[in-house]
Amino acid sequence: MEKLQTSRKRRKKLNKMGKLTIGLLIALTMISTLFLTEHFASKNVDAEKKEAQVQQTVKQTSKSAKKTEKDNVEAAIQPKSVDPKKEETKVDTGKTEEVTKKKEAEETNKSQKAKTPPAKGKVVYLTFDDGPSTTASRKILNLLDKYDAKATFFMLEPNMRKNKDIVIEMAEKGHTLGVHGVTHEVSKIYQSPKSFVGEMNQAISYIEDVTGIRTHLVRAPYGSRPYVTSAFKQAADKEEFILWDWNIDTVDWKQTGGGFVDAAIRQTMQLDGKEPLVVLMHEKDTTAAHLERLLKYYKDNGYDMRALNESMQPIQFK
Ligand SMILES: [Zn+2]
Repeated sequence: MEKLQTSRKRRKKLNKMGKLTIGLLIALTMISTLFLTEHFASKNVDAEKKEAQVQQTVKQTSKSAKKTEKDNVEAAIQPKSVDPKKEETKVDTGKTEEVTKKKEAEETNKSQKAKTPPAKGKVVYLTFDDGPSTTASRKILNLLDKYDAKATFFMLEPNMRKNKDIVIEMAEKGHTLGVHGVTHEVSKIYQSPKSFVGEMNQAISYIEDVTGIRTHLVRAPYGSRPYVTSAFKQAADKEEFILWDWNIDTVDWKQTGGGFVDAAIRQTMQLDGKEPLVVLMHEKDTTAAHLERLLKYYKDNGYDMRALNESMQPIQFK
């Protein structure tokens, strides 16, 4: 009997222990499952984060690579702006800010290129109005050749019709062709913005017909002041005319004895280095007769005599 009781007690004890062990095991399993799940979950988050970072880096790299490529292309076009050391630093540090700044600077350069101011200092722009002239133009052209000079001619349509060969010769020699209208009469050309634009377009078309060059360079008869008012300017802008005035007035139409040369030299010395030099003269016999002295002065004093071009910011009376 005693033995039986003892064995029963023992069995009870064993049962209790077994239950406890199972309980403990379950608890352990649950805890470890929870722990593992969390661990893997956080690992997944980490992995996602890492992947996202990698993707971003790839994106940035390809972006900067593209930018570098673009910069290189632009640099190839504008060799002056290339500084290899600077270029390397930018790519290494990957400072997008610097790249942006460079882009802005390039944009500014481009817009400045679109309309460059006329050169100051040792450059002079000779301009001749009212031609061509059957008697004066050839002499002027020969003198320009002799002094390795280029000039700009603002011409009247009827005079061009009379001297078609001269117009073609001017273009072939690399001078710049511009227009000055048809009538040169205040009561006609300045009658309305429409008449002003119409006269200029008639002359522009003639030049295009005989040379194939479509010019936009226009000189208003007597200059843009006082006749070219804002209504005229608006009409001219619409036609994309580039209106050129001058800052050296030789008054060669009046100073027929060569005094205009001294006037030009005097004004050149006054303006030198302060403003780009644009000289007004006319295709006249008396101008042609004394022109060589002026060309010699500019040549001897190191001036480059150039023709105007359409990318320059024009001088205009205010
Ligand atoms: Zn004129």
